[in-house]
Amino acid sequence: MAGASDRGPDHEFIVIGAGLCGLYALHRLLETGRDVIALEAHPGLGGTWYKNRYPGCRFDSESYTYGYSFSADLLQEWDWSEHFAAQPETLRYLNHVADRFHLRRHIRFDSVVRSAVFDDHTSTWTLELGDGQRLTCRFLLTALGLLSAPMKPRIPGIQSFRGVSFHTYDWPEGLDLTGKRVGVIGTGSTGVQIIAELAGRVAGLDVFQLKPNWCAPLNNSPIGAEEMAHIKASYDEIFARCAETPGGFIHGPDRRPFHEVSREERLALWERLYASPGFGIWLGNFRDILLDEDANREFSDFVAGKIRERVHDPVTAEKLIPRDHGFGVHRVPLETGYYEAYNHESVRLVDLEETPIVEINETGVATSAGQFDLDVIVYATGFDAITGSYDRIDFRGRDGVKLRERWADGPTTYLGALIAGFPNLVMLGGPHSASVATNFPRAIETSVDWAAHLFAHVTDLGCNRLECEPGAEKEWTQHIQDLYQRQLLRKAKSWFTGYNPNIPGHDRTRYLIYTGGAPRYRRELDEVAGDGYRGLVFSSPGEVPHLTSTACQREGEQRMRGVEHD
Ligand code: NAP
Repeated sequence: MAGASDRGPDHEFIVIGAGLCGLYALHRLLETGRDVIALEAHPGLGGTWYKNRYPGCRFDSESYTYGYSFSADLLQEWDWSEHFAAQPETLRYLNHVADRFHLRRHIRFDSVVRSAVFDDHTSTWTLELGDGQRLTCRFLLTALGLLSAPMKPRIPGIQSFRGVSFHTYDWPEGLDLTGKRVGVIGTGSTGVQIIAELAGRVAGLDVFQLKPNWCAPLNNSPIGAEEMAHIKASYDEIFARCAETPGGFIHGPDRRPFHEVSREERLALWERLYASPGFGIWLGNFRDILLDEDANREFSDFVAGKIRERVHDPVTAEKLIPRDHGFGVHRVPLETGYYEAYNHESVRLVDLEETPIVEINETGVATSAGQFDLDVIVYATGFDAITGSYDRIDFRGRDGVKLRERWADGPTTYLGALIAGFPNLVMLGGPHSASVATNFPRAIETSVDWAAHLFAHVTDLGCNRLECEPGAEKEWTQHIQDLYQRQLLRKAKSWFTGYNPNIPGHDRTRYLIYTGGAPRYRRELDEVAGDGYRGLVFSSPGEVPHLTSTACQREGEQRMRGVEHD
């Protein structure tokens, strides 16, 4: 495969993706005078917030913890209208950021990357786009998103349905559901938001539930002018708070040992959390709830009681209570009126554990209990999470090694940022990074800033190639697996553990996320950088990197030491 021409690569940097992460990477690199473009598959920027346009789509991070923190001016000029903003507002925000920082002209839209191949001789990447165009770059950065590879279910006859059907990621613009019989398959965070929004507004709503999730109230409310002014005056404290919590939210765990707190005190805390906005119920709860089976069971019973209170029909209520996992072990969907949706006469819950889907046919969904005729089927069946968007691009590293094959049993990374054998490729918010299980913008700012410092280091050394040592990758991947063992989530079957019923081979734990919390992840990154980027080798295209130390690295380090001594 041909690499860069004699003039060198087309660009120093290419960022794949112009969502929340890609936009920040673009800004950060442009700010330091780098030659960079972003390639975006869709006609507009915003990634997740561009694509997810289903009714009810909104944050469950506090809006004011979700915005970028890098610009005080930006923080002061943007007003959020609600504590948990809806999708159109977030998309407007991201477009504002792109215009405010003149990023749009550096983004190439409708540019689907089909393959990315590394040329060992020139140390460049060659990207092939959907239209056959090729582009080369020295450094390739991936900002592919965690949940950008939608998955429809594998159900016989799915193609034969004559009505309208789509995955939630591709909600048709302007779709009018008035008077329609709608079926929703899937009850994760997305399905839960849609079901609550559609209940009572369509002629009939059939919810096809494989397994229930533990959901909790979002408790959203508007932000008035006075409150927004207060938020603006408090941004330093808000971001300092986010920086110290494991999840990167304003909610930090209650570290009192669960068993040493009286039952009355526990109940008082739980009542307060259930009535409070956001993820406090999950992340501001006793830490032991996510580590200790007994603590988890007691709190799960508390939430089950709430479900029974909110759902009028006791049989339906029982079907909505998870039996296979405790609260917080899967990603908790936050909801507004989800349980009350089932009190509408026009809403039916179909329990697929009792009566599985047999097929989808021309007129609707057939389960073992009978036929459900529908006008519209919504597949709220989630994503090939985290690694799916990597698998959809044909990445080839040194010696033509295919990433898809390297990762067949699960990802292997160093720091969630680098992959052995894939030089000059830096993942931003990739698998094994903290961005996966935390407040995404807070985590990607960490990843992008770290990468920007890494590139400055490469330049200071006078090298233009970086690569991680296989041993460092092995150690980090083991570290990720060890961290899981402390948590109850290790037993879960959800996208947090790489489980997906629709993908062959994804029926066992694939260690995808860094579960040590954002502060520890930041510390680990900083230590590696402070240690001269331990585990990384820097070189120049002419040199053969022996994965120990190279002439370029040695000379660069000597020169830098000299500069320090002067
Ligand atoms: P998800 O959490 O993976 O949920 C997919 C749902 O589809 C599950 O209920 C799953 O059942 C069901 N399902 C999968 N295959 C099926 C099949 N063949 N037949 C029947 N049901 C099937 O996906 P999601 O709801 O799109 O959410 C993904 C993530 O996106 C969330 O966890 C969250 O991180 C993010 N999100 C965030 C927000 C927000 O910020 N407010 C909103 C939406 C999504 P099982 O669980 O039994 O497998």
